[in-house]
Amino acid sequence: MTQESLPMPFAGGNLDYAEDKRDITSLRRFLNDPKSLTVLMQDGKPAMNEDGTLWMVHPNELKGTNVAEPAPVLLGIQSDVPIFAFSLHTSQKLIPQDSFQEMRFVAGRMKPDELAIAGRARSLFEWHHKHQFCSNCGKKTMSASAGMFSHCGTCQTDHFPRINPVVIMLILNGDKCLLGRSPGWPEGAYSALAGFISPGESMEEACQRETMEEVGINVHSVKYIFSQPWPFPSQLMMGLRCQTEETKIKLNTKELEAAQWFSKDEVQAVFDKQSDAFLRPPKFTIAHQLLRDWLSD
Ligand SMILES: [Zn+2]
Repeated sequence: MTQESLPMPFAGGNLDYAEDKRDITSLRRFLNDPKSLTVLMQDGKPAMNEDGTLWMVHPNELKGTNVAEPAPVLLGIQSDVPIFAFSLHTSQKLIPQDSFQEMRFVAGRMKPDELAIAGRARSLFEWHHKHQFCSNCGKKTMSASAGMFSHCGTCQTDHFPRINPVVIMLILNGDKCLLGRSPGWPEGAYSALAGFISPGESMEEACQRETMEEVGINVHSVKYIFSQPWPFPSQLMMGLRCQTEETKIKLNTKELEAAQWFSKDEVQAVFDKQSDAFLRPPKFTIAHQLLRDWLSD
C-alpha cells in the first residue's frame, strides 16, 4: 500500500483549505454562493440522511436558527463548492433530532470524502468548545480565519487547534503479530497496541516504551507505515511496525485486559470471515489498515 493510493479513513477529504480566502468579503461571497453547502453538527455528531450520507443544506437555510459559536466555520472548498460546518445548539425545526448520529457508529458506512469532512468538523468544534479562553492571559478568545484558529484580543495571541500524536504499532515476531484488548471493548475484540507520545520522545521511543509498559516486550526496528487523523477528539495516529524476538507476554492489567499472539494465517482467516478467533478492528480504523497492509505483504 502506498501513501498515494491510501484510502485512509478520515483522511482524503480533497478539501482546499482556502487559507487566503478567509477574509470577511470572501466569506460573504461563499455564504451567498448558490453552490455552498454546510455540514450540521450537534455535540460532535453529524446530521445524517437515512442512506448514510451527510445531511447538508445551503447556509442560508440556517437563518433564524440557534447556532453555536464559532460560526461560520469554513472547512474548505471541494471541487469549487464551499463547504461550511455549523454546530446547532438544540433541536431545530430544520432537522429531526434523531438525524444527529454518533460518528463511531456510522463511520463504517459513510462515503470516504464525507467521513473526512465530518471528522474535520468534529475535531474543530471540539477544540473550539474546550478552548474558549486564552491559555496565556485567561481572557475570552474569538474564532479567527473562519474557525481555523482563535485569537485573544487582550494579549494578541493566536491559538491553533491542538493535535495529539499517538503511536499505534503492529508488534511482529516472524509470522506472528501481537494484539491486545482493553477493558470495555466488545467481546472478542483485539487490536494493535497504542499510546500517546510524551514530550521529549520520538515515535520510535514511544513505540518501545508503550510496548514495554503494556506487555513487557522489547521491540526494535521500528518502521513508520502510514498515519490517520482520528477525530475522537483530535489525534494523529502514527501507524508503525516493529520487531521482537521475545514471545513471553507480561500483561499490564491496568492498561490491557488481554494480549495474544496471532499467526498471519489466523489473522487472514478472520479477515476472510472464515474464523472468529477474534473480532477484527473496524474498517475505518488505522489498526484495521495496518493489519490488512501486513496481510498483503
Ligand atoms: Zn490572551
